[in-house]
Amino acid sequence: MKESAVQPRRLSIIVPLFNEQQSLRELHAELDAVASEHGYEFEIIFVDDGSQDDSWAVVQQLAVDDTRVFGVRLRRNFGKAAAISAGTVVASHAFVVTIDADLQDDAREIPRLLAEMDNGFDVVSGWKKDRQDPWTRRVASRIFNGLVNTLTKVKLHDHNCGFKLYRREVFDEVDLYGGFHRFVPVLAAARGFRIGETEVNHRPRKYGKSRYGSGRIIKGLLDLMTVCFLTGYSQRPQHLLGAAGLFSFLIGVGGLLFMAIYWVLRMNFYPDWTPLHQRPVVIYSVAALLLGTQLLTMGFLAELIVARDQKRGRRFAVQETVGRATGDQTGSAIVTSRSGSSS
Ligand code: UDP
Ligand code: MG
Repeated sequence: MKESAVQPRRLSIIVPLFNEQQSLRELHAELDAVASEHGYEFEIIFVDDGSQDDSWAVVQQLAVDDTRVFGVRLRRNFGKAAAISAGTVVASHAFVVTIDADLQDDAREIPRLLAEMDNGFDVVSGWKKDRQDPWTRRVASRIFNGLVNTLTKVKLHDHNCGFKLYRREVFDEVDLYGGFHRFVPVLAAARGFRIGETEVNHRPRKYGKSRYGSGRIIKGLLDLMTVCFLTGYSQRPQHLLGAAGLFSFLIGVGGLLFMAIYWVLRMNFYPDWTPLHQRPVVIYSVAALLLGTQLLTMGFLAELIVARDQKRGRRFAVQETVGRATGDQTGSAIVTSRSGSSS
């Protein structure tokens, strides 16, 4: 940590943007001001996520005016996670900052994120404590954060904050797609990275409206379910599917066994019995039996996929190795296998 105080910090600042032509110049000026004040070396990677306005023209002009600006234009609107992911592919510095393009995140908070990272973290998430968005969004966000905090091991006030600082290697381990930009801390923690949080200033949207509709709440919840599964069971899916399947299977077997005994006893002792096909227990038991078998089979299929995937070296995440110098040793093989997993 000490050397960073002497050497300039090197930052790759990734800005995902979708129809943000009005704010890009201001954002560039803000980032430039922070960097010169604190002596950061930086590159700004603007990722145009299929904008239909003149955003790309502005990015092109900024890249001409400032050689530290790099623009990536996606062919269509792929979503924020994909845009950030595209930025990480070209990011070349040790630290990666993601910041929204709409000026809601305050670039002057970057030093605070860096200071928090010096406390031994790999990811520092911003916390928009005084969030400048409509109350409906704030309430939805509270519920969402409560759910994520309950269902995952990562406790943050503001999982959905777009303003975050990462060590670059985090993106060697975490694939970003779909709506997963909201869950990088959870996915990173599952790979052994340490997650911190710090308050950041938040401002009202200066131009236009949010680029998202209300549909994102449902999508966020579905993504949360996927993330819980991926972080908890992606190595052993049968532990979840199989457990549920076995439970259901046993209930089915128990029900049918009960009915079989009832049938035998009834034949011998009770003449006025209800015929078996009129007993709901039979139907429920058969349903439970079928469901259980299905879940178990799905679990085995999932295990098959995981077993094949193991070749890609996703089983573990190596932080560093020591000893055995360089060359064809196990240590370097292990690290190569780890970086190979990023493909
Ligand atoms: N964004 C994007 N692709 C999208 C939607 C949004 O790159 O499909 C960008 C957007 O331009 C902004 C950031 O993601 O820089 C956050 O979006 P927005 O401000 O609309 O979200 P909110 O602040 O309402 O959460
Ligand atoms: Mg915004």
